[in-house]
Parts: sequence; C-alpha cells; structure tokens
Amino acid sequence: MILQGKTISPGIVRGVSHVVDAPTVLATALNTPPSGTPQQELERLSAAVGRASAQLDHLRRHLTGRVTLSEVAIFAAHANLLRDSKFLSQMETEIMQHGRSAEGAVSGIVRNLYQAFRTSNVTLAQDKATDILDIGRRLIQCLSDAAVTEDEIGANVIIVASSLTPTELVKYAHQGVIGFVTDTCGPKSHTAILARGFGLPLITLNQAGCETIKHLADIVLDGDNGVIVSDSNENDQQLVASILQRIPLSVAPAEPATLQTVTQDGAKIRLYINISDPTEADSVAQFAAAGVGLFRTEFLYMDRLWWPSEEEALEIYRDVAARVGEAELHIRLVDFGAEKCPPYADFPINRNPSLGLRGIRLLLQREDILRPQVKVLAKLARERPLTVMLPMVDSLDTLEKTFEQLCRICGCRSREQLPFKVTTMIEVPAAALMIDALIPHVDGISIGLNDLTQYMLAADRDDEYVGPYHDALQPAVLRTVANLVRTAAAHGKPATICGELAGDPLLTGLLLGLGTRELSVSRSNYVQVAKAIQRLRLDKAIELAEQVLKLNSGAAVRQFLANQKVGTSVK
Ligand code: PEP
Ligand code: MG
Repeated sequence: MILQGKTISPGIVRGVSHVVDAPTVLATALNTPPSGTPQQELERLSAAVGRASAQLDHLRRHLTGRVTLSEVAIFAAHANLLRDSKFLSQMETEIMQHGRSAEGAVSGIVRNLYQAFRTSNVTLAQDKATDILDIGRRLIQCLSDAAVTEDEIGANVIIVASSLTPTELVKYAHQGVIGFVTDTCGPKSHTAILARGFGLPLITLNQAGCETIKHLADIVLDGDNGVIVSDSNENDQQLVASILQRIPLSVAPAEPATLQTVTQDGAKIRLYINISDPTEADSVAQFAAAGVGLFRTEFLYMDRLWWPSEEEALEIYRDVAARVGEAELHIRLVDFGAEKCPPYADFPINRNPSLGLRGIRLLLQREDILRPQVKVLAKLARERPLTVMLPMVDSLDTLEKTFEQLCRICGCRSREQLPFKVTTMIEVPAAALMIDALIPHVDGISIGLNDLTQYMLAADRDDEYVGPYHDALQPAVLRTVANLVRTAAAHGKPATICGELAGDPLLTGLLLGLGTRELSVSRSNYVQVAKAIQRLRLDKAIELAEQVLKLNSGAAVRQFLANQKVGTSVK
C-alpha cells in the first residue's frame, strides 16, 4: 500500500511499524481474521492477558519509589481490570459465539466500553475511559506473535501514532527508533523540531491516515517526498527500490571545508546550530559551525523519571561543551510550559497553554528549578566561555527581576560580575516593541521567530487549522525583525535569528538583507543554508530586503521572492 503524506522531517528508512496510540491500535485490530479455531483464539487471548499482567507488574515494581504513588496505582488499576471476570467473559463470548479473532474480540469490547465510559455522566467513569483504551492497546500488542513490548521498542522500529508529544518523541529517539508517521504535527511544532534535530524522518498523513497502517508491517519511509510504502506488494517493488537507492545520498556527510559561510562579496556570516540533545552538538565540528546558537535545555528533562541532580546536570553540560570544543555555546534556561512539561513536573494546568505560565515567568516563580540550573551553568562558565539565553522575556520588568535572581544565585553584586554572558530571546511582541529599552541590559538578542510569529499573528504554531496564518513572511513580522536587528546593531550587539525560518535556504538572502549576520539552524538544514550563503551577494540581498520591506501583504512578499528566486540567484 502506498500512502502520500507530508514531510515534516526528511530522511529515508526501512523498518517495522509499531502502532502506539490506543485508538489506532484498536481500530486496525478490529477486523483481524482468526488465525485458528475458536479454542485456539481463546488460548491466545489467555496468554496475552497473562503477558500483559506480567508487564504491568514489572512496570509497577520498576516505578515504585521513582514516580508518585498515584502514578504507580494506575498500573495496579490496569492489572485489576485484566482480572475483571465480566470484561474477560465478554471477550470470550465474542470469540466462541461470534467466531472473532482474539484481536477482533479485544478491539470490539474495549471500543464499546470506552464509548460507554467516555459518555457517562459520572466523572470517575470518564476518567476510566483512557485506562480502558490503554489496556486494549496492551492486549493487542501482547497478542501479536512477534510482539515488541514498550521496553523492547528500538532499532528498526517506525512509530505510528495519531500524534506525538515532544516528550514521547525524545523517549523514542533515545530508544533508537528510526522514523515516525503521525496524523498531525505542525512543521514548526517542537515535535517537528526534535525529529529534525535527531535526524529522524517524520511524515504526517491526513485525518486518521495512521489507522490504515498495520502493527508490525514492513514500512519504507521516504521522508524526502512524504511517501510511505506499507507491506509492499509486487507492484510496489519498483518504487521501493527507487526510494532505497537514494539512502546513501541522503546521509552523505559534507566536508567542513566546503561549508565556509562567506558570501560572494566576502561577508562572513556566523552560522550556528540549534540543538535539543547533547549528541546533536557533534554537528558543530562536523560542519565547522560557529557553535551551538541555541541549546533547548528543557528536552534534557523529558525522558527521565525525576529532576536531575546538580552533579548529573553538570556532567551533561560538560559533555555538550566537550562536543562543541572551542566554538561558541549558547545555552537557554529551560523554557518549560505549554506542551513542554516533564512528565513528573507539578506545573499548573493552563487553560490556554501558549498564553499560560511558561519560560522565564515560570522560572521566576520556581526557584527550585531556576537555582540548580543557574548554579550548574555558573560552574560551567568558570571552565569555558558561555552565553545564557533567557526564554520568553516580555518586558524590562521581567528582565530586571531575572538579573536580580541570577545575581543572587551566583553571589554577584551586579550583572557585570556574572560569570556568563546573558542574551534574551525575542519571542514576545511586547519585548520586540521595547527593544530599545531591553538591549542595553543584555549581551545580544536571539530572535525566536517560531514564537514571535505565533504571538504577533495570534496563530498557534502547532495548530494546523491556523497554519497558513503562522506566516513569518507577513510584513508585520519582517519589519519587526528588521527593526530588532537594526536596534541591536546600533548598540553594537549581535542579533541572531533562530526560528525554523532561519533554516529555509530560499530565505537566507532575505534574512541577511534585513541586517542579521548570524543565523542558528537545525543541523538538518545547515548544509543547505551554508551553500545558500556562499551563492549570494550581500549588497544585492540588502537591496532585495529594502524592496520587500515596502510591501504590504504576505502574498506580495511571496510573489516578489518567487520572481527573484531569493537565496539561489541574489547575485
Ligand atoms: C522560537 O520560538 O523561535 C525558538 C527558537 O524557540 P522554540 O522553538 O524552542 O520555542
Ligand atoms: Mg520559542
């Protein structure tokens, strides 16, 4: 079966599907035909129930003492459901009287129960609905002959899920999975950014497309063209062969000497790498990059059971520093909040997550999180030069409070004594408007176009329905960027652009023309952007940006750029 989707993260892989989210697992299992007699199906069901109970018992014992008691209790409750005689006998009836397979019986009963619980008026029953789904998913996975359990997910596995949170993506990446297929994932979401950072292909299908992919199917992902071949048949062989043929091309390493970031007219551009995981820092040496321009440290906290100790955190940062070598290292304080919350964190639930407590505002309320991170970064700063970046600063008031805290934690009397440089992210429109007031206090700015665009245009970066409105090519955004860069330059301070747009090689000319001389991009975009820099003339790029800044609509900007073929022929 061939499916056409949308590429969110490029790359080509072949592996085995692992359908992980419960509704999809259950939907795909519903029509599985029986593999033997009813008696044999009953035996398969009973073996699966035993296996699922053993897994839950293992999880309960493994997590006791590491997570809260109420979380451990969830696994005990799931195990109890597996012993529920009514639940079990309903599934047996489906097999014995209606001739269904064990998978079909589990899926049918669990889906009915789920509906009943979900639509119940009793809150407790509604809460149970997701537990039921989870049990169903576990049973289906235990029924599959070559079942891969959660503990075993790893090499050669392609995760299929209707959606993935950043936390889940980090967990799977660390387990060694090789690719992802989801129904939804915005290209500027953190899940997308992480997939690109880990160099793992991710393709999205449209509504419920994942349901068409079977568990443990042979999958070829062409993450360069958004094509998925699932359980290929004879007719698909030519396509499969042509996709697989391109694998060596997509992973061929580039020679650092060929990636010098100098324009045709001799302007040196500082090109950095954005990272979310320590291993990504290896790309700095691989490409001879200017350094790590943005380390999104919040993802260090996701695939864990509890906060790291200061010693552990220092080891991680030292590891990153060793990988970066002599190059620059810009580490952002944790930008928790919205969809970036460690599973064990006790953050308040926000009614509107992107506008809720996040970034530096959250840290100013949570000294227990801010203090250990700053202490560790201060230690690292005594070993090598370091820049600390502040996420989501909105005003001078917040900036001043932050400096007070930083000084207190580091035992400094003034900000000049801090052992590291401090730059602020510009992601909030109010901060962008007040740049004249903020810039004297910091060592530079980093323009986070993902969030700045989201907040300027009131369009959630993760929400596909407003995807076209999350458009950094809107004149309002471009003029703001130009003003930020100009103001920073007037104060002799660097301004880096680090949102996803910076990684689009077709826009490199425009961004440099707006005045920035520093870009920070995901490692999967580095080579293309470096080559775009080499191809362009800065004087022409500046002329082009001047023209663009006169335009009043996003459509006009697009049309103008299309006519100019920016980044490829700004000569
Ligand atoms: C941004 O907002 O553009 C940015 C770089 O930060 P993040 O993507 O981590 O929110
Ligand atoms: Mg941001």
